[in-house]
Amino acid sequence: MGQGVLADFFPRQSGILGAEDVPLSVIADAVGTPAFVYSGGHVRSRYTALTHALDGIAHRVHYSLKANACAGVLATLREAGSGADVVSGGELYRALRAGFTPDDIIFGGVGKTPREIEESIRAGVKLLNVESLAELELANEIAGRIGLTANIGLRVNPEVAVESAHHYTKTGEKGHKFGIPYDDVVHGAREALGYEHVRLRAIVMHVGSQLRTLDAHRAGAERLLALVSAVREAGARDLRYLDLGGGLPVRYDEEHEADLTGFAAIAKEAAERSGLEIVVEPGRFIVANAGVLLTRVLYRKRSGGTEYVVVDAGMTELLRPSHYDAYHRIDAVDESDASGSIVADVVGPVCESGDFLARKRTLADVGPGALLAVHSVGAYGFVMASHYNARPRVAEVVVDGDRWAVATERETYADLVRREHEHLEWRTLR
Ligand SMILES: *Cc1c(COP(=O)(O)O)cnc(C)c1O
Repeated sequence: MGQGVLADFFPRQSGILGAEDVPLSVIADAVGTPAFVYSGGHVRSRYTALTHALDGIAHRVHYSLKANACAGVLATLREAGSGADVVSGGELYRALRAGFTPDDIIFGGVGKTPREIEESIRAGVKLLNVESLAELELANEIAGRIGLTANIGLRVNPEVAVESAHHYTKTGEKGHKFGIPYDDVVHGAREALGYEHVRLRAIVMHVGSQLRTLDAHRAGAERLLALVSAVREAGARDLRYLDLGGGLPVRYDEEHEADLTGFAAIAKEAAERSGLEIVVEPGRFIVANAGVLLTRVLYRKRSGGTEYVVVDAGMTELLRPSHYDAYHRIDAVDESDASGSIVADVVGPVCESGDFLARKRTLADVGPGALLAVHSVGAYGFVMASHYNARPRVAEVVVDGDRWAVATERETYADLVRREHEHLEWRTLR
């Protein structure tokens, strides 16, 4: 992968890979492995690059917590000026806890429960983006019951062709579970206008993630603009936002970096033609290349012609290789551990053959004890961790210049069973 993307914030100094000015070996020695390490400087630089690209366009960036909800990362983004985008009651709770004000939080998601809808209306979120007419009706009902008005966005499925790295990360093609089917949106808007306890504030899309080109954003924006006109004709007077969602890509390996100039051109045209404020909801773009996963080599072995590097992290910490067949660059932290190279599968300790971090990968010829850095894990890494095989969740560390802090402590065995009853208290029907 192009060194340029990472080298600024993960430089090698005297042969040791660092996060900004802190050697990763120092962090691994202090907190153990596996551990996620995030560069606050990288997070800030990505947020700034995006807002600068959108300079001169009425817009607001709402960082999507789904990608990485580490408190240290959230604090960095809030301080930089970002809003938040959440997709569950749990994420709403995290966003509020991190100090985002309710009117700077957007709440989306395809399957919100009545409780989540009520919590978000009570909190007073900027937008409750509904994904079906049934959800719209429920939001109106709940808002009425608690005596409040819900600010609504209609999440549209623009039904455009989406080109992303994996079919699991496409969300805006015809028939997907997300959003209101395109042809139902104007009807949905009429319903909304007829409801007493909702105010229609936004037309919304989110077409997919890690989008290779801007085609889906461009085609989707065009489709939204047509809806804005139709919805206004139907009587909408309170529209204020056009939400283009997330999906901007990052460079994991050979991919192109996101075309911010091209994206800004789409946003500018959409803003001018609609007169609305543009909302963007980036997740991966902001954090993916801000994180590394530190893992130590436990064993080397050879089986049936395959060379294996067995490490102490696996699919429980980083699901992406297994779930999306994703590529993550892997480097030895200490150059002196890396004399010569091998072609190997880098696998974790989990009892499942899908547990790998890399396959048939050319990497440093590392032995037991060597520390490895798995790159570009800042998005959809720790947030997708599981307890499978009763593996405690690992630590999260944030770095800022020459300072670093543990943002999330490594779980203990006791944490694994904290909510479990050792002795069952049986209940009976009578
Ligand atoms: C996941 C998600 C995002 C962020 O997507 P990225 O590809 O990480 O930018 C934004 N909005 C919604 C509604 C999402 O579900």
